[in-house]
Amino acid sequence: MILTGGVDISEKEIAYVLDATINGWNEHHSDYVDKFTHSFSDYVTAKHAYATTGGTQALWLALATLGVGKGDEVILPDLTYFACSDVVVLLGAKPVFVDVDPLTWCISPEKIKKAITPRTKAIMPVWTYGNAPDMLEVMSIAEGIPIVEDSCPAVGSTVDGIHAGSFGTFGCFSFHGAKIMTTGFGGMVVTDDDDLMKRLVYLDDHGEDKSLDERFIQTDIGYSFYMHNINAALGLAQLERVDTFVHKKRQIFKWYENILGNIDGLSINYEQKGAFTNRWLTSIVLNKKFRVDRDMLMRLLRDEGIDTRPFFRAISSFKMYDEADTPVSHHLGLNGLNLPSGVQRTQPEIERIALQVKTYLCG
Ligand SMILES: *Cc1c(COP(=O)(O)O)cnc(C)c1O
Repeated sequence: MILTGGVDISEKEIAYVLDATINGWNEHHSDYVDKFTHSFSDYVTAKHAYATTGGTQALWLALATLGVGKGDEVILPDLTYFACSDVVVLLGAKPVFVDVDPLTWCISPEKIKKAITPRTKAIMPVWTYGNAPDMLEVMSIAEGIPIVEDSCPAVGSTVDGIHAGSFGTFGCFSFHGAKIMTTGFGGMVVTDDDDLMKRLVYLDDHGEDKSLDERFIQTDIGYSFYMHNINAALGLAQLERVDTFVHKKRQIFKWYENILGNIDGLSINYEQKGAFTNRWLTSIVLNKKFRVDRDMLMRLLRDEGIDTRPFFRAISSFKMYDEADTPVSHHLGLNGLNLPSGVQRTQPEIERIALQVKTYLCG
Protein backbone atom coordinates (compact mmCIF):
# COMPACT_ATOMS: atom_id res chain seq x y z
CA MET A 1 0.00 0.00 0.00
CA ILE A 2 1.31 3.45 -0.92
CA LEU A 3 0.41 5.60 2.11
CA THR A 4 -0.54 9.30 2.07
CA GLY A 5 2.37 10.22 4.35
CA GLY A 6 5.68 8.79 5.44
CA VAL A 7 8.64 9.92 7.50
CA ASP A 8 12.27 10.11 6.43
CA ILE A 9 14.76 9.06 9.13
CA SER A 10 18.49 9.33 8.43
CA GLU A 11 21.68 8.56 10.35
CA LYS A 12 21.46 12.07 11.82
CA GLU A 13 18.15 11.40 13.59
CA ILE A 14 19.46 8.10 14.92
CA ALA A 15 22.68 9.71 16.19
CA TYR A 16 20.90 12.59 17.96
CA VAL A 17 18.26 10.36 19.55
CA LEU A 18 20.89 7.88 20.67
CA ASP A 19 22.91 10.71 22.20
CA ALA A 20 19.83 12.12 23.98
CA THR A 21 18.91 8.69 25.27
CA ILE A 22 22.38 7.92 26.61
CA ASN A 23 23.53 11.36 27.77
CA GLY A 24 20.45 13.56 28.01
CA TRP A 25 19.86 13.33 31.71
CA ASN A 26 20.52 15.38 34.85
CA GLU A 27 22.30 18.62 33.85
CA HIS A 28 21.83 17.64 30.16
CA HIS A 29 18.12 16.87 30.44
CA SER A 30 17.07 19.80 28.26
CA ASP A 31 20.08 20.22 25.91
CA TYR A 32 18.18 19.09 22.83
CA VAL A 33 15.01 20.95 23.81
CA ASP A 34 17.06 24.15 24.07
CA LYS A 35 18.84 23.55 20.74
CA PHE A 36 15.65 22.57 18.98
CA THR A 37 13.61 25.55 20.21
CA HIS A 38 16.43 27.99 19.37
CA SER A 39 16.89 26.56 15.89
CA PHE A 40 13.14 26.54 15.35
CA SER A 41 12.62 30.14 16.41
CA ASP A 42 15.49 31.11 14.08
CA TYR A 43 13.93 29.11 11.26
CA VAL A 44 10.54 30.80 11.51
CA THR A 45 12.08 34.12 12.68
CA ALA A 46 10.13 34.33 15.92
CA LYS A 47 11.61 35.70 19.12
CA HIS A 48 10.52 32.81 21.33
CA ALA A 49 9.66 29.16 20.78
CA TYR A 50 8.34 26.62 23.26
CA ALA A 51 8.23 22.91 22.47
CA THR A 52 5.11 20.94 23.39
CA THR A 53 3.81 17.39 23.23
CA GLY A 54 1.64 18.17 20.22
CA GLY A 55 0.06 20.76 17.95
CA THR A 56 -3.17 20.47 19.88
CA GLN A 57 -1.33 21.28 23.10
CA ALA A 58 0.41 24.23 21.41
CA LEU A 59 -2.99 25.68 20.42
CA TRP A 60 -4.38 24.98 23.88
CA LEU A 61 -1.52 26.77 25.64
CA ALA A 62 -1.68 29.75 23.27
CA LEU A 63 -5.41 30.26 23.89
CA ALA A 64 -5.05 29.68 27.63
CA THR A 65 -2.25 32.25 27.77
CA LEU A 66 -4.52 34.79 26.08
CA GLY A 67 -7.07 34.11 28.82
CA VAL A 68 -9.67 32.56 26.53
CA GLY A 69 -12.46 31.22 28.70
CA LYS A 70 -16.14 31.32 29.59
CA GLY A 71 -18.17 33.85 27.61
CA ASP A 72 -15.49 34.30 24.94
CA GLU A 73 -15.71 33.52 21.26
CA VAL A 74 -12.93 32.28 19.00
CA ILE A 75 -13.36 32.61 15.23
CA LEU A 76 -12.00 29.72 13.19
CA PRO A 77 -12.61 28.07 9.83
CA ASP A 78 -15.31 25.40 9.64
CA LEU A 79 -12.98 23.30 7.47
CA THR A 80 -10.15 22.23 9.75
CA TYR A 81 -9.05 19.47 12.07
CA PHE A 82 -11.28 19.31 15.12
CA ALA A 83 -8.30 19.79 17.45
CA CYS A 84 -8.86 23.52 16.76
CA SER A 85 -12.43 23.62 18.06
CA ASP A 86 -11.79 21.07 20.83
CA VAL A 87 -9.34 23.33 22.63
CA VAL A 88 -11.69 26.30 22.38
CA VAL A 89 -14.51 24.27 23.93
CA LEU A 90 -12.26 22.68 26.57
CA LEU A 91 -11.33 26.20 27.72
CA GLY A 92 -15.03 26.98 28.14
CA ALA A 93 -15.29 29.32 25.15
CA LYS A 94 -17.41 29.14 22.02
CA PRO A 95 -16.00 28.31 18.58
CA VAL A 96 -17.50 30.52 15.86
CA PHE A 97 -17.18 28.68 12.55
CA VAL A 98 -16.80 30.70 9.37
CA ASP A 99 -16.38 29.66 5.78
CA VAL A 100 -13.17 29.22 3.83
CA ASP A 101 -11.92 30.52 0.52
CA PRO A 102 -12.65 28.12 -2.35
CA LEU A 103 -9.12 28.49 -3.77
CA THR A 104 -6.83 28.40 -0.72
CA TRP A 105 -9.18 26.22 1.40
CA CYS A 106 -8.19 28.57 4.24
CA ILE A 107 -10.33 30.98 6.30
CA SER A 108 -12.06 33.74 4.33
CA PRO A 109 -11.11 37.19 5.67
CA GLU A 110 -14.48 38.55 4.47
CA LYS A 111 -16.31 36.01 6.64
CA ILE A 112 -14.16 36.84 9.67
CA LYS A 113 -15.24 40.47 9.39
CA LYS A 114 -18.91 39.51 9.67
CA ALA A 115 -18.31 37.17 12.63
CA ILE A 116 -16.45 39.59 14.93
CA THR A 117 -18.43 40.58 18.05
CA PRO A 118 -17.45 42.28 21.33
CA ARG A 119 -16.90 38.76 22.71
CA THR A 120 -14.33 37.78 20.08
CA LYS A 121 -11.23 36.94 22.11
CA ALA A 122 -9.08 35.44 19.36
CA ILE A 123 -9.02 34.55 15.67
CA MET A 124 -7.51 31.27 14.53
CA PRO A 125 -6.57 31.12 10.84
CA VAL A 126 -5.40 27.67 9.72
CA TRP A 127 -2.73 26.80 7.14
CA THR A 128 -4.83 24.00 5.68
CA TYR A 129 -2.63 21.19 4.28
CA GLY A 130 0.25 23.69 4.21
CA ASN A 131 -1.65 26.20 2.03
CA ALA A 132 -1.45 29.86 3.06
CA PRO A 133 -4.38 31.90 4.38
CA ASP A 134 -4.46 35.55 3.36
CA MET A 135 -2.65 36.52 6.56
CA LEU A 136 -2.18 40.22 5.77
CA GLU A 137 -5.91 40.63 5.18
CA VAL A 138 -6.75 38.60 8.30
CA MET A 139 -4.46 40.83 10.38
CA SER A 140 -5.90 44.01 9.00
CA ILE A 141 -9.45 42.84 9.74
CA ALA A 142 -8.50 41.65 13.24
CA GLU A 143 -7.70 45.23 14.28
CA GLY A 144 -5.72 44.12 17.30
CA ILE A 145 -7.74 41.05 18.26
CA PRO A 146 -5.09 38.42 19.05
CA ILE A 147 -4.41 35.94 16.27
CA VAL A 148 -3.46 32.35 17.05
CA GLU A 149 -2.18 30.87 13.82
CA ASP A 150 -2.77 27.18 13.40
CA SER A 151 0.30 26.65 11.25
CA CYS A 152 0.49 23.04 12.45
CA PRO A 153 1.18 21.52 9.03
CA ALA A 154 3.02 24.51 7.55
CA VAL A 155 6.70 24.30 8.53
CA GLY A 156 8.46 25.78 5.49
CA SER A 157 5.47 27.76 4.14
CA THR A 158 5.86 31.51 3.75
CA VAL A 159 4.02 34.55 2.39
CA ASP A 160 6.14 37.45 1.15
CA GLY A 161 9.06 35.69 2.82
CA ILE A 162 7.38 35.75 6.24
CA HIS A 163 7.14 32.32 7.79
CA ALA A 164 3.89 30.60 8.74
CA GLY A 165 3.25 31.10 12.44
CA SER A 166 5.15 34.38 12.68
CA PHE A 167 2.33 36.67 11.52
CA GLY A 168 0.02 36.24 14.50
CA THR A 169 0.32 36.81 18.23
CA PHE A 170 1.06 33.09 18.48
CA GLY A 171 1.94 30.47 15.89
CA CYS A 172 1.41 26.77 16.56
CA PHE A 173 3.06 23.80 14.85
CA SER A 174 2.69 20.04 14.91
CA PHE A 175 5.40 17.40 14.55
CA HIS A 176 3.03 14.45 14.47
CA GLY A 177 4.39 11.63 12.30
CA ALA A 178 2.02 12.61 9.49
CA LYS A 179 3.43 16.14 9.17
CA ILE A 180 6.34 17.42 7.10
CA MET A 181 8.80 16.91 9.98
CA THR A 182 8.31 14.81 13.06
CA THR A 183 9.30 14.35 16.69
CA GLY A 184 7.03 11.32 17.08
CA PHE A 185 4.38 13.31 18.89
CA GLY A 186 5.20 16.96 19.34
CA GLY A 187 4.48 20.59 18.66
CA MET A 188 5.78 24.11 19.05
CA VAL A 189 4.30 27.46 19.97
CA VAL A 190 6.08 30.64 18.88
CA THR A 191 5.61 34.32 19.68
CA ASP A 192 7.53 37.61 19.64
CA ASP A 193 5.91 38.77 22.88
CA ASP A 194 8.16 38.44 25.97
CA ASP A 195 5.35 38.71 28.52
CA LEU A 196 3.06 36.26 26.77
CA MET A 197 5.87 33.70 26.50
CA LYS A 198 6.66 34.16 30.19
CA ARG A 199 3.02 33.57 31.10
CA LEU A 200 2.78 30.55 28.80
CA VAL A 201 5.82 28.91 30.41
CA TYR A 202 4.42 29.63 33.87
CA LEU A 203 1.01 28.16 32.98
CA ASP A 204 2.72 25.09 31.52
CA ASP A 205 4.57 24.62 34.79
CA HIS A 206 1.24 23.96 36.53
CA GLY A 207 0.94 27.63 37.47
CA GLU A 208 3.52 27.32 40.22
CA ASP A 209 4.90 30.61 41.55
CA LYS A 210 8.64 30.17 41.03
CA SER A 211 9.46 33.66 42.29
CA LEU A 212 9.07 32.51 45.89
CA ASP A 213 11.65 30.90 48.13
CA GLU A 214 9.19 28.18 49.02
CA ARG A 215 8.38 25.48 46.47
CA PHE A 216 5.01 24.06 45.40
CA ILE A 217 2.97 27.22 45.88
CA GLN A 218 0.40 27.20 43.10
CA THR A 219 -1.16 30.46 41.91
CA ASP A 220 -3.04 29.23 38.80
CA ILE A 221 -4.49 25.99 37.48
CA GLY A 222 -1.99 24.93 34.83
CA TYR A 223 -0.69 22.40 32.35
CA SER A 224 2.33 20.23 31.63
CA PHE A 225 2.50 19.98 27.87
CA TYR A 226 6.25 20.41 27.39
CA MET A 227 8.26 18.25 25.03
CA HIS A 228 10.77 15.69 26.20
CA ASN A 229 14.45 15.93 25.28
CA ILE A 230 14.47 12.67 23.30
CA ASN A 231 11.67 13.90 21.07
CA ALA A 232 13.51 17.19 20.68
CA ALA A 233 16.64 15.32 19.51
CA LEU A 234 14.58 13.79 16.72
CA GLY A 235 13.08 17.20 15.97
CA LEU A 236 16.45 18.95 15.74
CA ALA A 237 17.71 16.44 13.19
CA GLN A 238 14.47 16.74 11.18
CA LEU A 239 14.61 20.53 11.27
CA GLU A 240 18.16 20.49 9.92
CA ARG A 241 16.82 18.52 6.93
CA VAL A 242 13.39 20.10 6.54
CA ASP A 243 14.26 22.25 3.54
CA THR A 244 15.04 19.10 1.56
CA PHE A 245 11.61 17.74 2.58
CA VAL A 246 9.92 20.94 1.40
CA HIS A 247 11.83 20.75 -1.87
CA LYS A 248 10.73 17.15 -2.41
CA LYS A 249 7.10 17.90 -1.51
CA ARG A 250 7.04 20.72 -4.04
CA GLN A 251 8.54 18.38 -6.61
CA ILE A 252 5.81 15.82 -5.88
CA PHE A 253 3.17 18.51 -6.29
CA LYS A 254 4.61 19.44 -9.70
CA TRP A 255 4.50 15.80 -10.86
CA TYR A 256 0.83 15.62 -9.88
CA GLU A 257 0.05 19.03 -11.34
CA ASN A 258 1.52 18.11 -14.72
CA ILE A 259 -1.12 15.40 -15.06
CA LEU A 260 -4.04 16.67 -12.94
CA GLY A 261 -3.59 20.44 -13.17
CA ASN A 262 -5.70 21.09 -16.25
CA ILE A 263 -8.77 18.93 -15.75
CA ASP A 264 -11.96 20.93 -15.95
CA GLY A 265 -13.83 20.84 -12.62
CA LEU A 266 -10.86 19.52 -10.65
CA SER A 267 -8.96 21.86 -8.32
CA ILE A 268 -5.58 21.32 -6.71
CA ASN A 269 -3.64 23.20 -3.97
CA TYR A 270 -3.51 26.88 -4.85
CA GLU A 271 -0.60 29.18 -4.16
CA GLN A 272 -1.52 32.87 -4.19
CA LYS A 273 0.84 35.65 -5.24
CA GLY A 274 3.73 36.02 -2.80
CA ALA A 275 3.11 32.62 -1.22
CA PHE A 276 5.61 29.77 -1.10
CA THR A 277 3.89 26.76 0.41
CA ASN A 278 5.38 23.50 1.64
CA ARG A 279 2.92 21.37 -0.39
CA TRP A 280 2.63 19.11 2.66
CA LEU A 281 -0.24 17.16 1.09
CA THR A 282 -1.06 17.47 -2.58
CA SER A 283 -4.84 17.44 -2.61
CA ILE A 284 -7.63 17.59 -5.16
CA VAL A 285 -11.27 18.62 -5.03
CA LEU A 286 -13.98 17.31 -7.36
CA ASN A 287 -16.05 20.39 -8.20
CA LYS A 288 -18.34 18.77 -10.74
CA LYS A 289 -19.83 15.35 -11.48
CA PHE A 290 -17.15 13.03 -12.81
CA ARG A 291 -17.53 9.37 -13.76
CA VAL A 292 -17.11 8.52 -10.07
CA ASP A 293 -17.57 10.54 -6.89
CA ARG A 294 -14.92 11.22 -4.23
CA ASP A 295 -15.69 8.21 -2.05
CA MET A 296 -15.83 5.83 -5.00
CA LEU A 297 -12.54 7.23 -6.29
CA MET A 298 -10.94 6.57 -2.90
CA ARG A 299 -12.24 2.98 -2.88
CA LEU A 300 -10.98 2.31 -6.41
CA LEU A 301 -7.55 3.72 -5.56
CA ARG A 302 -7.42 1.63 -2.40
CA ASP A 303 -8.03 -1.48 -4.51
CA GLU A 304 -4.96 -0.46 -6.52
CA GLY A 305 -2.88 -0.21 -3.35
CA ILE A 306 -3.08 3.58 -3.20
CA ASP A 307 -4.07 5.09 0.14
CA THR A 308 -5.77 8.50 0.18
CA ARG A 309 -7.35 10.63 2.89
CA PRO A 310 -10.66 12.48 2.71
CA PHE A 311 -10.66 16.19 3.56
CA PHE A 312 -11.70 17.26 7.04
CA ARG A 313 -15.48 17.58 7.38
CA ALA A 314 -17.04 20.93 8.20
CA ILE A 315 -16.82 20.72 12.00
CA SER A 316 -20.14 22.49 12.56
CA SER A 317 -21.86 19.54 10.86
CA PHE A 318 -21.13 17.39 13.92
CA LYS A 319 -23.86 16.90 16.51
CA MET A 320 -22.16 18.94 19.25
CA TYR A 321 -22.63 22.16 17.25
CA ASP A 322 -25.22 24.25 15.50
CA GLU A 323 -24.58 23.81 11.79
CA ALA A 324 -22.98 26.91 10.28
CA ASP A 325 -23.88 28.43 6.93
CA THR A 326 -20.56 27.49 5.33
CA PRO A 327 -21.26 26.05 1.88
CA VAL A 328 -17.64 26.08 0.71
CA SER A 329 -16.43 24.16 3.78
CA HIS A 330 -19.26 21.67 3.38
CA HIS A 331 -18.50 21.18 -0.32
CA LEU A 332 -14.73 20.76 0.22
CA GLY A 333 -15.28 18.40 3.14
CA LEU A 334 -17.32 16.03 1.00
CA ASN A 335 -15.40 16.33 -2.29
CA GLY A 336 -11.73 16.79 -1.40
CA LEU A 337 -9.03 14.20 -0.92
CA ASN A 338 -5.35 14.16 -0.02
CA LEU A 339 -3.11 12.17 -2.34
CA PRO A 340 0.01 10.21 -1.35
CA SER A 341 2.67 12.88 -0.75
CA GLY A 342 5.36 11.17 1.35
CA VAL A 343 8.89 12.44 0.71
CA GLN A 344 10.07 8.96 -0.27
CA ARG A 345 7.71 8.78 -3.28
CA THR A 346 9.32 8.55 -6.71
CA GLN A 347 8.31 10.23 -9.97
CA PRO A 348 7.08 6.95 -11.55
CA GLU A 349 4.91 6.25 -8.47
CA ILE A 350 3.35 9.72 -8.48
CA GLU A 351 2.74 9.60 -12.23
CA ARG A 352 1.10 6.18 -11.92
CA ILE A 353 -1.21 7.51 -9.17
CA ALA A 354 -2.04 10.68 -11.10
CA LEU A 355 -2.82 8.76 -14.29
CA GLN A 356 -4.95 6.32 -12.33
CA VAL A 357 -6.92 9.23 -10.80
CA LYS A 358 -7.36 10.81 -14.22
CA THR A 359 -8.57 7.55 -15.75
CA TYR A 360 -11.13 6.92 -13.00
CA LEU A 361 -12.45 10.47 -13.22
CA CYS A 362 -12.41 11.07 -16.96
CA GLY A 363 -12.11 7.67 -18.59
C1 LIG B 1 -2.02 18.14 12.64
C2 LIG B 1 -2.88 19.28 12.88
C3 LIG B 1 -3.28 19.64 14.19
C4 LIG B 1 -2.98 18.81 15.42
O1 LIG B 1 -1.65 18.52 15.69
P1 LIG B 1 -1.32 17.31 16.69
O2 LIG B 1 0.18 17.37 16.81
O3 LIG B 1 -1.79 16.06 16.03
O4 LIG B 1 -2.00 17.56 17.97
C5 LIG B 1 -4.04 20.77 14.36
N1 LIG B 1 -4.41 21.52 13.32
C6 LIG B 1 -4.07 21.22 12.05
C7 LIG B 1 -4.51 22.11 10.93
C8 LIG B 1 -3.31 20.10 11.79
O5 LIG B 1 -3.00 19.80 10.51
